[in-house]
Amino acid sequence: MRLLKDKIKTDGIVLNENVLKVDSFINHQMDPKLMKEIGKEFARLFKEEEITKVLTIESSGIAPAIMTGLEFDVPVIFARKRKSLTLTSDVYTAKVYSFTKQETNEITVSHKYIEEGDNVLIVDDFLANGQAAIGLAKMVEQAGANVSGIGILIEKSFQPGAEEIRKQGYRLESLARVKSLAGGKVQFVETKET
Ligand code: 5GP
Repeated sequence: MRLLKDKIKTDGIVLNENVLKVDSFINHQMDPKLMKEIGKEFARLFKEEEITKVLTIESSGIAPAIMTGLEFDVPVIFARKRKSLTLTSDVYTAKVYSFTKQETNEITVSHKYIEEGDNVLIVDDFLANGQAAIGLAKMVEQAGANVSGIGILIEKSFQPGAEEIRKQGYRLESLARVKSLAGGKVQFVETKET
């Protein structure tokens, strides 16, 4: 997606060869117009899938997920990373090792919000090792629902997540695919619009 890649080029900061910082438009301050276009792009890419729910993980997935849910006119659910006092039993859980925080979180979603037969689109900001996306997919499957696809804003293609997700048979669509962060520079995988 040209708009997202341009934004990464101008405002993204390469922290080291494994981590890209996008605090000024995704992870801290957010760019609503960009989020709106991202929602439209996911709606275009997954339009054949009869999506009934969008699922993400707090907190940075929420903005793009809600714009995607708006386009599909379906509810948006976010998995919680910390146990909530009001969300005690009747939850799907998955253990997810956080790439950025380097700790394992047990993520949860209430049984109430994913139903058997739902066609769920999973949305997240980054794809590194694939732990977050695969954990979300496992919860969808625990519910007897279908993982219709996984939509990622920024895939770091040099890390193992993308290959792992495809190997497990899920449809993956990434709006920006980063080939390398070496030398402090963002290099994208070449696609039609580059
Ligand atoms: P994974 O579960 O695929 O290993 O990592 C994905 C999660 O880690 C995303 O939800 C995102 O929050 C975080 N993440 C992974 N890589 C990066 C990165 O380069 N920059 C930022 N800002 N977050 C990242």
